[in-house]
Amino acid sequence: MRQRKLRNLDTKYEAYSDIIVDSPAEMKGRWSERSGGAPLFIEIGCGKGKFISELAAREPEHFFVAIEGNKSVMLRAMEKIRKFGLTNVAFIPELAGDLSDWFEEGDADGIYLNFSDPLPKNYWYKRRLTYRDRLKSYFRVLKPSGTVTFKTDNTDLFNWSVLEIIASDLKILDITRDLHADPEANASNIETEYEAKYSGFGEKIKRVVIGRK
Ligand code: SAH
Repeated sequence: MRQRKLRNLDTKYEAYSDIIVDSPAEMKGRWSERSGGAPLFIEIGCGKGKFISELAAREPEHFFVAIEGNKSVMLRAMEKIRKFGLTNVAFIPELAGDLSDWFEEGDADGIYLNFSDPLPKNYWYKRRLTYRDRLKSYFRVLKPSGTVTFKTDNTDLFNWSVLEIIASDLKILDITRDLHADPEANASNIETEYEAKYSGFGEKIKRVVIGRK
């Protein structure tokens, strides 16, 4: 059953070969061939793509790389990009590790982490996307002025992430613990799938923008 499901997925993926990056390591230092030299932004864990598709539609002058480890979820994101007729998004169907395997220093202008898995067990902390070594690795591919923007409803993960930012010697450029109640921060906000769901349950959405010191 599982085999058949995977085969079906592969067939569906064929229709999106133009927007899938199969060997991201080969793109290291060559992303401008894909982006046409446009500023490049990365989302790690794009899910079903509500955020990346709306952002790419709003910012046609930018190029976006959406990374998603779950192939069937990523299919939904690619469908949205097609439906919107967007050509400024490429997808990497893999779990992101050290981004410097795929991107050269200065390749990226910004990185988005939206509702990253909280991985609540203590011994999982190194796999959280806001773990200090991961945060540092993001800044190895960002331009000097580049930023990482992290949103979540999860208070424990958010508080832990703020400590990781401080431990990484990075700078908090902006922080809110109730994004939807903050008119300035909320004005340009694009809701993700998880954001719509959890704010609907009454959870407050937290957001932090991280830069270099
Ligand atoms: N950003 C979406 C989905 C959040 S759920 C939203 O806000 O609605 C977190 C997603 O991140 C899941 O789809 C999971 O498969 C993906 N993910 C977790 N770790 C990842 C990694 N290292 N690389 C790529 N995707 C990852």
